Amino acid sequence: DLDLAERTARKLGAKIAPATVHAVDTVNLDIRRGEVLGLVGESGCGKSTLGRMVAGLTTPSEGRILYNGQDVSTLKGAAARDAALKIQMIFQDPMSSLNPRLQVREIVGEAPRFHGIVQRNQMASYVEDLLDQVGLDPSMGKRYPHQFSGGQRARIGIARALAVRPHFLVCDESVAALDVSIQAQVLNLFVKLRQDFDLTYLFVSHDLGVVEHISDRIAVMYLGRIVELGESEDLIARPNHPYTQALVSEIPTFETGKKIYHAIEGEIPSPMNPPTGCHFHPRCPHAFDRCRVEVPALKEVAPGRLSACHLNDRAT
Ligand code: SF4
Ligand code: MG
Repeated sequence: DLDLAERTARKLGAKIAPATVHAVDTVNLDIRRGEVLGLVGESGCGKSTLGRMVAGLTTPSEGRILYNGQDVSTLKGAAARDAALKIQMIFQDPMSSLNPRLQVREIVGEAPRFHGIVQRNQMASYVEDLLDQVGLDPSMGKRYPHQFSGGQRARIGIARALAVRPHFLVCDESVAALDVSIQAQVLNLFVKLRQDFDLTYLFVSHDLGVVEHISDRIAVMYLGRIVELGESEDLIARPNHPYTQALVSEIPTFETGKKIYHAIEGEIPSPMNPPTGCHFHPRCPHAFDRCRVEVPALKEVAPGRLSACHLNDRAT
């Protein structure tokens, strides 16, 4: 499932140079070792593109991705391979990324075998351990992907990513395809694995409820820009940016007891032709003249909190 930005870019790719599509624009983001940084925004806001850049699957036309202080695009040979293994991506739909003709133990063992991470005679027990760590019965390794439920396939996808001993996981809508009750189980697995494997996550989701559950900090993205960043609980309790305020205005449902966040009025504009000034101004209830002409800078508005809104200048 591609973001609108990516789909649009592909559709128009023949006519328009890719450089003119800024799915991600002026993003400056630090992810701290050991933390879970949630990246939330509506479909098409560029969060998947940003996640792919961090995972090294998309190269930014400008700017750099630093990993442990090093620009990953300048690494060569073993260093490049090592960085590529240390940062793994977990996708939305495990079924489409699991080879239906391979047994699960082959799927999980493929990359460590290829990269010589585990000795041949230890591979079977290595894979069994991984299946156990993600909550699957190791004896299930002989089965094929179609013999598993959606939640189990998500676990297989996670085991496959862990098999190359990564330090950093980019999770893009990793629980979006699952039922709500299964989502919670898989999120809890992510929490456990973070401890067990000393992992850092960039957790990308359109669902603020999911991001809230797992993240230490949350970055809110709108049309290619980070509009707010802060500690999770504080950001949800006291959103500064009008877009975040709209995202967190919650409606409790009796059906599931889960908080759901209502969609914001109006269509998300095309990243091909984003609004001038603050990208959010056509949908913002507080927009004023300056918002239409000037891009608001992402500035510290409280300790540990960044927001990009001209209202913060007015208040002082
Ligand atoms: Fe709304 Fe203006 Fe703030 Fe943008 S800068 S969020 S349009 S008030
Ligand atoms: Mg996406």
